[in-house]
Amino acid sequence: MDLTKKLTLPGKYCESLTHYKRWLTREVQIGDVPMGGTHPIRIQSMTTVDTMDTKGSVEQTLRMVEAGCEYVRITAPSIKEAQNLAEIKKELLKRGCKVPLVADIHFTPNAAEVAARIVEKVRVNPGNYADKKKFDQLTYTDAAYQAELERIYTKFAPLVKICKEYGTAMRIGTNHGSLSDRIMSHYGDTPEGMVESALEFIRICEDLHYYNLVISMKSSNPQVMVQAYRLLVEKMVAEGMNYPLHLGVTEAGDGEDGRIKSAVGIGTLLEDGLGDTVRVSLTEEPELEAPVARALVNRYVKRAEQVLEINYSQEIVTNSKLIVENLGSRHETKEVNAFIGGSMVPRVVADLSNKRLIDPMVLKDIGYIYDPLLDKYHMGDQSVDFVFFGDNLPSFTMPGNLKQVYNFATWLGLTNKENAHPLYTLHDYINASERDTNLNLVRIFHEDLESEAFENLPIDQTLVFVLETRQLHGMADQREFFVKLRSWGLEMPVIVKRSYDPVEFSGPVGDMMSPEEPISKLQLYAATDLGGLLIDGMGNGIWIDAASIPTDKLASASFAILQATRSRISKTEYISCPSCGRTLFDLQETTQMIRSRTNHLKGLKIAIMGCIVNGPGEMADADYGYVGAGPDRVTLYRGKEVVKKNVQSADALNELIEIIRADGNWVEFA
Ligand code: SF4
Repeated sequence: MDLTKKLTLPGKYCESLTHYKRWLTREVQIGDVPMGGTHPIRIQSMTTVDTMDTKGSVEQTLRMVEAGCEYVRITAPSIKEAQNLAEIKKELLKRGCKVPLVADIHFTPNAAEVAARIVEKVRVNPGNYADKKKFDQLTYTDAAYQAELERIYTKFAPLVKICKEYGTAMRIGTNHGSLSDRIMSHYGDTPEGMVESALEFIRICEDLHYYNLVISMKSSNPQVMVQAYRLLVEKMVAEGMNYPLHLGVTEAGDGEDGRIKSAVGIGTLLEDGLGDTVRVSLTEEPELEAPVARALVNRYVKRAEQVLEINYSQEIVTNSKLIVENLGSRHETKEVNAFIGGSMVPRVVADLSNKRLIDPMVLKDIGYIYDPLLDKYHMGDQSVDFVFFGDNLPSFTMPGNLKQVYNFATWLGLTNKENAHPLYTLHDYINASERDTNLNLVRIFHEDLESEAFENLPIDQTLVFVLETRQLHGMADQREFFVKLRSWGLEMPVIVKRSYDPVEFSGPVGDMMSPEEPISKLQLYAATDLGGLLIDGMGNGIWIDAASIPTDKLASASFAILQATRSRISKTEYISCPSCGRTLFDLQETTQMIRSRTNHLKGLKIAIMGCIVNGPGEMADADYGYVGAGPDRVTLYRGKEVVKKNVQSADALNELIEIIRADGNWVEFA
C-alpha cells in the first residue's frame, strides 16, 4: 500500500489530549495548493450562483478568493453544469486566477466523470453516489450486502480511474442524514454509519491504488459531527490510513447562531489537532465564510510553540486513557442549592461589576426587563442565572430569580445576603470566618489541584467551582481538571470561565477592523473553548469574561453556545443550508421571513433547504422542513415525511405554520 507515514496514537483519535499537536496526515495535491501533511490548514467555500452562469460564477469565485478561499467548490448537478466548469475555469485563468476548483456531486456519476477531467478535485457523497434514497428500512443478508458493495464498486470505479489518470483529487464527503438506505439499515443514523459509509468508498479507492483523498463527516448537529470525525480518525488509524480531514458543520444557519454552531464543531476538533481544511457553511454570501474560517484556524498557527508546559507532579500528569474513557459521557455532579449541578441545565453567568448600578434598566442586557409601572421584572428564556457584581453594590431591588455574586470581602459586609453569594479564592475559602449556608463559589485553576490549599479544602454541599485557565491551550487544560475531579470522586458543580483580552480580537497591525469583528471572534473563540467541554458533558455553567464586548452580546453568545451543544435549549433552531447553484429561492430572505414568524417557538428545529436534492436527508435533525421543490414551489416536511408537496412560495410559510399548529406545537407570541 502506498501510504505515507502511519501513526499510532496515544489517545484513540488524536495525537495528544493534553498538548496541542496536529495529527499528521498524508499530503494530497490539489492543483497548485497541496493539503495535509505540514501544510497550513486550508480555507474553502462554495459558490451560490447557477453553475451555468459563467460570468456570475467567475465574479463570485474571484470575490471568494479575495476573501481568503484557497479552494472553491461549485455544484455540478448534471453533465451540462459539469461541462460548464471548463468555461468557468478558462475565464478564471484569463483573469489570472488559478484557484483549484472542486466539483460538488450528488446522485450523478456521469457528471462526476466529466468534471473529474476538468477540475482539480471532485466531491462525492457516498450516501447518494450509487444509491437513490427512498428512506426504506431494508434488511440485507450478508450475501445481499456484499452484492450491494460490488454494485457500488462497479459504479464508483470509473470515477476513481479518471481521477488517477488526470491527477484529480477527491473528497469523500459523508453527510449525517444522507446516508444510503443500506447503511441506515445496518448502522442506523449514527456516527458509526457515517464512518462506515466513507470507509466503503475509501477501500474501493485503495483497492484501485488511488490515495489522493480527503474525507469529511458533516452534520448540522455539532455533537454528531465531532463524534463522527473522532471515530473516523480512530478507524482510519486502525486501518493504517491518514487521509486529510475536511471539517464542517452543515446547514449551520446565519449570524451568531451560524458562527457559534460552526465553531462548536470545527473548533472542538481543531483543539484536538484534527483538520486540514475548513469550510464554514453560513446562510450568507459565500465571501463572508472565509474570514470566519480563517479566524477559527488562525488560533492554531503558532499554538504548538506558544503553549507553556506546566510542571505537574507525577501524580497529576494526565492519563490520556482516562480522558478518552470519559469523553462523551456526562460529568456527574451533585445539585447545589436546588439551582446548579445534578440534572439542572448549565447556568449562565454575566459580569456587571464594571457597570453603574443605579438603574434597574441595566439588567435589560442580561434578560431582565424592568416595568416601572408594575414595579416588576419580566424575564425570558435567555435571562442569565448569576450576575457577578464584584465589589459594586446595586442601588435598586434585584429580580428574585437572579443570583447575585460578590467578592467575598464585599459579601461579608452585606446586610441583606438573601440571594447573594460569595466568590472566594481558594485561600480565602479555606480561611473564611463566615461562609454562605447555601452556595459558595470558589475560583480555581487546574494547577491548584496539586496545591496544599486544595488538600485542606473543606468540601460540602454548598461548594461550586469557578474554573479558570492561564493556558493558551485552555480547553485541554480545563478538560484535564474535570477528568481529575472525576477520578477522585469529587462531584461539586463546575462553572467554566474563559477570559479574553481585547488584544485577542485584533487583526494584523494596520488591519481595518469592522465593529462586528471583535464580536464575531468572541463568538468563535468562546464557542470553541466552552463548546468543546460542553459537548463532552463537562460544565454546569459558563462565564464568558470579555470586558471589551457588550454585555448583551456576551449573554446572547452564552445561550447560543448552550443551544449549539444541545445542553440548554432556549430558542428556535434553524437548520438552513448555505445555498449553492441548485438553490431555487433566496435562502437568506426566506430564512429571515420564516424566522420572523417562528422565532418564539423555543425548542423547535426548522430546516430551510434550497433544493430537494437531498430532501429530508440533509436535515435529519429537524422537526419541520421547508424545501425548494421547483421554481416558485416549496415542499413541506414533518421530520422526514412529506406533508404538502409543491405549495406556492407565497403560501408556504402560512401552510407550514398550519402544520405546526395542527401538531399542537404552535404557541402565540407572548
Ligand atoms: S440543500 Fe442547499 S446547499 Fe444543499 S444542494 Fe440544495 S441548495 Fe445546495
